[in-house]
Amino acid sequence: MNGEIITIGRELLMGEIVDTNASYFAQELANAGVTVRWSSQVGDDIEHLHEVIGRALDRSQVIITSGGLGPTSDDLSREAVAGVLGEELRVDSEMVAWIEGVFRERGVTEMPKTNIKQANIIPSATFLPNPGGTAPGWWVKRNGSHIFMTPGPPREIKRMWANHIGPAVRDMTGAGVVHTRILRTAGMTEGGIDEVLGDLFGTENPYLGIYAHVDGIQLRIISRAATDKEARSITDPLETEIRRRIGSAIWGADDDSAATRLGELLIDAEMTVGVVDSGTGGTLASLISRAAGHERWFRGSMITGPGGAPLATPLLESMLGGPAGRTTGTVSEAAAVQMAVNARQLMGADLGIGITPPSSEDDEQMKGTIFVAFATSSGKKVVRSRFYQPPDRALPRAAMFALTEAAKAIAGDEV
Ligand code: AMP
Ligand code: MG
Repeated sequence: MNGEIITIGRELLMGEIVDTNASYFAQELANAGVTVRWSSQVGDDIEHLHEVIGRALDRSQVIITSGGLGPTSDDLSREAVAGVLGEELRVDSEMVAWIEGVFRERGVTEMPKTNIKQANIIPSATFLPNPGGTAPGWWVKRNGSHIFMTPGPPREIKRMWANHIGPAVRDMTGAGVVHTRILRTAGMTEGGIDEVLGDLFGTENPYLGIYAHVDGIQLRIISRAATDKEARSITDPLETEIRRRIGSAIWGADDDSAATRLGELLIDAEMTVGVVDSGTGGTLASLISRAAGHERWFRGSMITGPGGAPLATPLLESMLGGPAGRTTGTVSEAAAVQMAVNARQLMGADLGIGITPPSSEDDEQMKGTIFVAFATSSGKKVVRSRFYQPPDRALPRAAMFALTEAAKAIAGDEV
């Protein structure tokens, strides 16, 4: 079954927004058993819309459009489909009442007149409810092809897919259930993983994919079967084999973020964490602060300038019970360990994390190197990596590195 995606809007062609709807639908359609063969972007221009929609009807059985369902005169997607099919638009009074209701719920007593446009439909279409906005979608059937029209906002299309379009498409393809499992790794490169797992790639069901992500390389297993239980039984042996080969590099699965995963591990271990950070400019604390429930395990972070010094003030020395702090600004294993030990004391935490600034040494082996140390009452561990990108990329990567390595250290009982 051929699939085709048409994303509509002049802003896409101007490069003003990134076309995330196309990639979202491409993924969902593939999961639902449709082979997407074409994806195009088109401006809000009636002639150009006629052309791409007409061509899609000739060659594709599942067509999804996004955008151009707003109330203003430049929203022309409804007119375009009506034109291609040679049908007349008419106002559906029930839909007018529904849209008026949405405005009332938002505290607007009178619906702007322009919104009546969104209640227009043609005889061969039915409305697709949109629980998140005023623009309903359309589902049109013609000669064995289906057009699903959706509005532009990504949040709205996801709900429309989950509630209506996805189930309808699955019915058509008989795709059954798709089970997806994501395994998140740290500390290995794509090539390194390929060397170890190479023979596991290339099968259709289960399918194994590999992608680079900000928090490391991720592996995605996709299995299809009639029921969820059967699909899982296809996924599980492959997951077990992957874990057998590279288990120590896997720090999380599915929707885990590095910070939520660390939080889970700390809560299980009844531990809290404190940080002394000269290497990520507070990015680590910022990532932690976005994880739900972090108030249970995050005690705080001291962010020191890469030049060092703050821990060497007399006040901090006395708080730390001695000259232990004269280490920030130094890029070494020992400095990182001392910072981790200080972090425990300073924040009253069970796990201390110390992050040195990136080395500015010109030495090819050292430039950009940071050391990250973990300290608990029972052990210490130090890891190192190099981040030589500009700060806007290096800081989040260094913070992600600290989080994933902390999760590995706690999960592996290494500290
Ligand atoms: P529209 O339904 O065409 O009025 O689009 C409404 C808004 O949805 C736009 O202003 C964008 O912010 C967003 N949007 C539209 N198309 C896309 C797309 N293909 N990908 C991501 N966002 C989009
Ligand atoms: Mg638009």
